[in-house]
Amino acid sequence: MKPALALLLTAIGLPTLAAGLPACVQPVRFTAAWLTDPQFDHSKSAAELDALAGAARGPGTQLGHVVVKTQLSVEPQTTCNGLTVRLDFVQPVLRIAREMPAGSCSHALVMAHEQTHVRIHQEIARQFRALTYPWPDRLGSDAVLKYARQQLTRLMDAQRQFDSPQEYARGRTACAGEIPRLITPAQAASRTP
Ligand SMILES: [Zn+2]
Repeated sequence: MKPALALLLTAIGLPTLAAGLPACVQPVRFTAAWLTDPQFDHSKSAAELDALAGAARGPGTQLGHVVVKTQLSVEPQTTCNGLTVRLDFVQPVLRIAREMPAGSCSHALVMAHEQTHVRIHQEIARQFRALTYPWPDRLGSDAVLKYARQQLTRLMDAQRQFDSPQEYARGRTACAGEIPRLITPAQAASRTP
């Protein structure tokens, strides 16, 4: 149930500070878009989810995941001499393996887990907006972008922490063992030559 996180960085025409404008009170502002409700996909098998998650997948079979691209961009502030760093979430998709039918206990369990990942993304956005740039004498947009990228990586760790061994263990035993019943036979069959 690991989220597949892709970090897509855009640094289009890294701006330089404009001359002639007054200095900004806050030379670097951090903004973040609101993560909209992800598109829901219930059409793929657990094996297909594993393949889609690729390198981002954790241990075990993917029962569901949230895939969202994060995009960072740096723009000049318009009314004063400073920069704005913007975090965007691109094409969020929430998938639940089709082996778990809608209305089943396992479907509800995995949905609740994935929706927690979505809420963690929203919390990450809130914390991103509250960032302050620590080096006012280094206002190059490449340095600002590098700082934003490091901070985003640090904040994203909350997603990995949520996928704790305890959370995985809960999935194996919840719903009277429904998840291993629904998922494991297909996996075992796929290994049969
Ligand atoms: Zn997870």
